[in-house]
Amino acid sequence: MFTMKELPFELSALEPYMSARTLDFHYNKHYKTYLDNLNKLIKDTDYANKTLEAIVKDSYRAPEHRSIYNNAGQVWNHQFFWNSLSSHGANEPSIKLQKQIEESFGSYDNFKSEFKTKALGLFGSGWCWLVQKDGKLEIVTTSNADNPISLDLGLPVICIDVWEHAYYLDYQNRRSDFIDIFLNHLIKW
Ligand code: MN
Repeated sequence: MFTMKELPFELSALEPYMSARTLDFHYNKHYKTYLDNLNKLIKDTDYANKTLEAIVKDSYRAPEHRSIYNNAGQVWNHQFFWNSLSSHGANEPSIKLQKQIEESFGSYDNFKSEFKTKALGLFGSGWCWLVQKDGKLEIVTTSNADNPISLDLGLPVICIDVWEHAYYLDYQNRRSDFIDIFLNHLIKW
């Protein structure tokens, strides 16, 4: 039985960049629904005693457990996303990470530009991630509930939710504006 991970800030803490209304729907409706569904689906199954990460990995390899995978993935992804958001404005990566970003992308501006292009280019619903893989940083996107741990794409560092529910109330169809706001005002390293 999983319980909702507490948000590390108040619902209104990300305004004006992300409204309390958006976060309220996102956290108390979307995220909560995935979590409630997951709890119902794993009740009295072998998954019930596993960690969330193990459920994500194991159900990915069991096509007959697609509903469990989708809900577990979405719970995991949202919890990672809440921790990728800063209520004190965007902060800077550690010196070590800055160096890695420069080695992998040339500069921090290039990283932002590539992250935006990938996040914007994802067709449909999904996620954009910065991951560590084989000592390098990479930007990858995943569709729907997929994530780097199930697809073995590396260790996630940062993610943005680009499902429309993440931004529609504030930015309508302008995913581009939402990504800019995330990179310039909300990202938490
Ligand atoms: Mn979401």
